[in-house]
Amino acid sequence: MSFSQLGLRAELLSAVTAQRYPSPTPIQARAIPIILKGRDVLAGAQTGTGKTAAFTLPMLQLLSNGSVGAFNGNSPRALVLAPTRELAAQVESAIVTYGKHLRLRSTAIFGGVGINPQKSALQRGIDIVVATPGRLLDLVGQRSIDLSAIKILVLDEADRMLDMGFIHDIRKVLGFLPKHRQNLLFSATYTRDIKRLADSLLNKPAMVEVERRTVAAQTVNQCAYRVDKSAKRDLLIQLINEGRWHQVLVFTRTKHGANRLAEQLVRRGIDATAIHGNKSQAARTRALAGFKKGSLRVLVATDIAARGLDIDRLPHVVNYELPNVPEDYVHRIGRTGRAGEEGEAVSLVGADEVRLLKDIQRLLRKEIPLQALPELVSQPTDKAEKSECTTRKRRSPRRKRPANGSTPRRESHRDKAARHA
Ligand code: AMP
Repeated sequence: MSFSQLGLRAELLSAVTAQRYPSPTPIQARAIPIILKGRDVLAGAQTGTGKTAAFTLPMLQLLSNGSVGAFNGNSPRALVLAPTRELAAQVESAIVTYGKHLRLRSTAIFGGVGINPQKSALQRGIDIVVATPGRLLDLVGQRSIDLSAIKILVLDEADRMLDMGFIHDIRKVLGFLPKHRQNLLFSATYTRDIKRLADSLLNKPAMVEVERRTVAAQTVNQCAYRVDKSAKRDLLIQLINEGRWHQVLVFTRTKHGANRLAEQLVRRGIDATAIHGNKSQAARTRALAGFKKGSLRVLVATDIAARGLDIDRLPHVVNYELPNVPEDYVHRIGRTGRAGEEGEAVSLVGADEVRLLKDIQRLLRKEIPLQALPELVSQPTDKAEKSECTTRKRRSPRRKRPANGSTPRRESHRDKAARHA
């Protein structure tokens, strides 16, 4: 299957070609033709599956070919609701990327930043608004935006919006929309609450489910260490240094924990920043930009802050603390091994987290192999073994090679055990 078979117009195909995507992902192949027909869609797809393009490309086509009216001043024709500021910004940037050869106007609307520039963008006229529900309602309340011309509504990561308590805000927003419209609901999980929302929102939807959440992230090699809470930090530092990880996203359960860990890493000479809901939007954007550019080595994040982060080819994710909700584990490791790339997800499991690990394994219907703990960092370095949870060897492009040009051999604990056997 190629993009040219999906019925997309030349301007969109040209923008996609510029992205060098080899072919449509399964969600794109299935959802795009259905959305182009104007049908409602209930899509089960998590981040990393190419879901953003799956709704953005056909939405841009419908808006540009006259199927859903024409430019309407400050009454947008399409609305995308997203749970977090980061996700809203990312979706908007995808719209700009894919829509670069079309004359459509879009803007992102979210809290934590000044409202006036958002008002000005709306006043200049707009086709597509990507918004978090709270700030959107503020603007509706101030009569800065008129939602009565919305023809296409997208709920992106709807399950997360419900988890974050947005259901009332979503219902309020729905109250401002015209009755006749196309609805697209994207959700990584299919809970009873999502089903209820879908039943009330969607009109004879086509169901598109590309990947069951439990088989997500096939390309991610997962492993775990049973480690005392007090030794987690040293283990993480050892993994980063000895594995020569050039980039890693580390998850903690709390904002405070994220801050503390980032500070400790910096004290030990590892460039790290924390992102979480208490950080200003500017600080979060800066940290994310540094991480994407590769100038920041470690990003320590809470689940909500990391939700929907679009970071390409992230090689390592560490669960410094396991999430309370097993589904969050799937979201977390979805940050690595994206779009066919191989990635590695390492979990540090304290005594009080063994139960959580079991819950995760039950959800995945798969065992996450436990690794033997490496010798301590305080050991002489010539004795310390490198640890690696992959069975397949991955080669980091930035790994230094010895002067003779050969690739340094990284000995895994399995290798070591074999050597001693
Ligand atoms: P998403 O699931 O929308 O968060 O997308 C995940 C990543 O996949 C983004 O970085 C996209 O640029 C990338 N992507 C989207 N479509 C494709 C495709 N057809 N082939 C390869 N990568 C893609």
